[in-house]
Amino acid sequence: MSRNLTYDEWIPFTQYEKNECDIKLKDGTIIKHTYPNAGYFNGCCGKQRYYIHENEVAEIMYRKYYVNDLCNGDCNKK
Ligand SMILES: [Zn+2]
Repeated sequence: MSRNLTYDEWIPFTQYEKNECDIKLKDGTIIKHTYPNAGYFNGCCGKQRYYIHENEVAEIMYRKYYVNDLCNGDCNKK
């Protein structure tokens, strides 16, 4: 990473760094465990695969899913 990121805290989304993160959409929907690439946030795990354009994102929370063993294999399961 080129700079220090704030982890585990919602921050207003302006632009992303390539790091695992949760996102909160402009309609309030929270999607966990995504990874941004080429202007889209891709769901990393679970049955339902997300593909969210960055224009839909209001807030972002960087998380160290794998380093901290936070991933349960289906982070968006209700
Ligand atoms: Zn996960």
